Amino acid sequence: MNAGSGSFYRLLPEEVDERVRLLGLPAYRARQLLEGAYRQLAGSWEEVTTLPLDLRRRLDAELPLRPPAEVRTASTPEADTVKALLRFADGTLVETVLMRYPPREGRGHPRATVCVSTQAGCAMGCVFCATGQMGFERNLRAEEIVAQVLHFARWLRPLGQHVTNVVFMGMGEPLANYAETLRAVRILTHPRAFGLAQRAVTISTVGVLSGIEKLAGEGLQVGLAISLHAPNDALRRQLVPTAAPGSVERLIAAARRYRERTGRRVTAEYVLIEGVNDSLGDAEELAHLLRGTDIHVNLIPLNPTAAGYRRPAPSRVSAFARALRRMGINCTVRREKGTEISAACGQLRTDAARSAVIPEPVATLPSTQR
Ligand code: SAH
Ligand code: SF4
Repeated sequence: MNAGSGSFYRLLPEEVDERVRLLGLPAYRARQLLEGAYRQLAGSWEEVTTLPLDLRRRLDAELPLRPPAEVRTASTPEADTVKALLRFADGTLVETVLMRYPPREGRGHPRATVCVSTQAGCAMGCVFCATGQMGFERNLRAEEIVAQVLHFARWLRPLGQHVTNVVFMGMGEPLANYAETLRAVRILTHPRAFGLAQRAVTISTVGVLSGIEKLAGEGLQVGLAISLHAPNDALRRQLVPTAAPGSVERLIAAARRYRERTGRRVTAEYVLIEGVNDSLGDAEELAHLLRGTDIHVNLIPLNPTAAGYRRPAPSRVSAFARALRRMGINCTVRREKGTEISAACGQLRTDAARSAVIPEPVATLPSTQR
């Protein structure tokens, strides 16, 4: 890439400074560009009227903002969960989800979490995951990850709301696309760029051990979630067929080291699947495995996909949670959000592909919310 091309969203603020210098512009332009992109949320430099017109034209050609196109959306009636299918310049499609929550205890600001994709498709092949079933297409670039967050930042703006959290829990395995994921995290959390708190970012991984180790040494305060799903290797390898032997123990050990090095408590995600990993025996084995760690368990009742697995009944989910708590394990059950809009990542895209044959109505947003 030469000095005059590429996407602006890819650049760290120090690199923006450098680029501004290379373009022969005065240093203060860097601040104007960063504010135009991340405060004003401009979709093109044309909109940033604090810049001279000829410069706007030049930047649109040489250092464009280039937001992805929204191909399709699905929303719950109250728009507390909104899912977008986004298309990048080369036609690649990914899903991004916005989840909105009221202020805690009725005070403060409403919260809005954006769930970003880091790859188109995924090579890990988890049997219950719609993305895993489509296979791997390509890694996303940092600017494409940043642009997903900005997409919903723009959506929230007419409501006077902001993105408060970002979770790397969309399509793909973030730590299998380590460098681009980290670059996106640094841009999203840089005070001169998007400016989120590091603690407001969580990376979820199916267990790329070298990636967890590396992340622990970045000097960041981002949260880590490990997708465990099973209390033993035999069961885990059934659900995550690409997991190496011994992955359960090694994943727990990596989580403990992450905790020690960063001070951040790690979450273990456990997708509950009826008749597969939801027995009280499984809960007991899980409690035994996690004893002595302060890993927090997040139980996720399965969002059924085409694979034929089912979600356990609510009573079974709460029995599993109760059993864990009784054995001293901290756990929460993920609030069900957006099941009706195919909210499990990968599902909207799968539905869109299928609807080429069988039309499937998907709710679109009321125009007042756009
Ligand atoms: N690849 C990473 C991050 C993306 S998946 C990972 O696996 O952690 C984010 C979370 O969604 C994971 O915990 C994953 O197991 C979960 N998930 C995938 N498909 C799901 C489904 N159909 N229902 C519920 N959770 C699902
Ligand atoms: Fe990939 Fe995560 Fe889906 Fe597994 S659950 S296939 S790692 S996106």
